[in-house]
Amino acid sequence: MTYSVSPVGFVRSCFKEKFAIPRQPHLAPAARGVLELVAPYDNGDAVQGLEQVSHVWLLFLFHQALEDKPRLKVRPPRLGGNQSMGVFATRATHRPNGIGQSVVKLDKVEPGRLWLSGIDLLDGTPVLDIKPYVPYADSVADAINRIASAAPTLIPVEWDDAALRQANQHALRLNEPLVELIEQCLAQDPRPAYQIPTPERRYGAQLWDLDVRWHYPQSGLIRVLEVVPAA
Ligand code: SAM
Repeated sequence: MTYSVSPVGFVRSCFKEKFAIPRQPHLAPAARGVLELVAPYDNGDAVQGLEQVSHVWLLFLFHQALEDKPRLKVRPPRLGGNQSMGVFATRATHRPNGIGQSVVKLDKVEPGRLWLSGIDLLDGTPVLDIKPYVPYADSVADAINRIASAAPTLIPVEWDDAALRQANQHALRLNEPLVELIEQCLAQDPRPAYQIPTPERRYGAQLWDLDVRWHYPQSGLIRVLEVVPAA
């Protein structure tokens, strides 16, 4: 049996590629985006009342991870990528129907447009539904998850002087908390756990319209090298 669903909108996100996106929402509060609703939901009626809500659930498609062949076991990056686990025990992107869910902060509501922060969504992500977060029902004080018991350990992020100047200039141009965004995303160490980075090895990711490049001068320390217009 098949059912068909269609997006209510698409996310315009600070994240232009999968690498360096936090593994869950809230981990980078400076990660912002806009959910642009499509017809007929771009009418103000569809979001009326939503301004009374601080957070929303987004149900979305992992549109860059869709696969035909179902997987029963996956290797979550959080476990270092070398331990496999039942797909339903994880929040992996490769999963039945490719559906993701994130609770994100709702900063502003406009007809046809929701301004979001704390997102973990790639640019262009199709959103299937939006639901208000209901604190008394959705927050479970005694919940336990022994696989993912705490947020990732953060590592320090340092800046080359020139890179920090570049980031501050682009932050003004974009009117975005860019320095915070870079620090929050890199502090989670986006590198796959199995890679042991040498100081010479350069890493990069695109945030907004910028290429951010960094390296690991020593284990457990990141240094931002440059923040330049994306090639
Ligand atoms: N919070 C969601 C959940 O639990 O369903 C997403 C968790 S998933 C582990 C988060 C990762 O999904 C991000 O780090 C990013 O690499 C990836 N991602 C985000 N949007 C995506 C998209 N549209 N297509 C494919 N991968 C995506």
